[in-house]
Amino acid sequence: MLRITLVQGDITHESVDAIVNAANSSLLGGGGVDGAIHRAGGPEILEACRALRASHYGRGLPAGQAVATTAGRLDARRVIHTVGPVWSHSEDRSDVLASCYRESLRVADELGARSVAFPAVSTGVYRWPMGDAARIALTTVRDAETSVEEARFVLFGAQAYEAFQDALAALGG
Ligand code: ADP
Repeated sequence: MLRITLVQGDITHESVDAIVNAANSSLLGGGGVDGAIHRAGGPEILEACRALRASHYGRGLPAGQAVATTAGRLDARRVIHTVGPVWSHSEDRSDVLASCYRESLRVADELGARSVAFPAVSTGVYRWPMGDAARIALTTVRDAETSVEEARFVLFGAQAYEAFQDALAALGG
């Protein structure tokens, strides 16, 4: 039975089996949570990402997919990199955002991870409105078929935390 928990804080401080990164398609680092994960985890993570670019993901990781690397110095076994969609006025990309969470859990299952920490994918540089992103994240994780026991959403700042609390309450959780 999957338990959803919400915490406010910096995801790089979490102790879990796997930490999900809101990466970009290049897998070669960026700002926001991606920059924080590479800074805190050290150069091993970037090395592993470069190896992925040199092998299976020559053209980068497409939005909605997920792939695991070492977690370097983070207190986790693995980092699962996923690429969120850029928010669009003209196109509904909700299925791509939902896929990020589903695919991250699928990879977590392959790794045998029991606890997974997620950031609010796409809500930073990619501009997805927080309340809607929270609803998509929580419904997708709640409905996923997975052996993961804890999905911990680690929200950066009070506004994000409250948006997730409200969305969870709206789901009856
Ligand atoms: P994206 O490109 O998918 O929008 P960002 O990293 O820009 O990714 O933002 C995703 C979310 O992660 C935002 O809500 C941002 O505030 C949050 N965030 C940034 N740094 C951290 C961190 N260290 N821990 C957890 N969340 C973070």
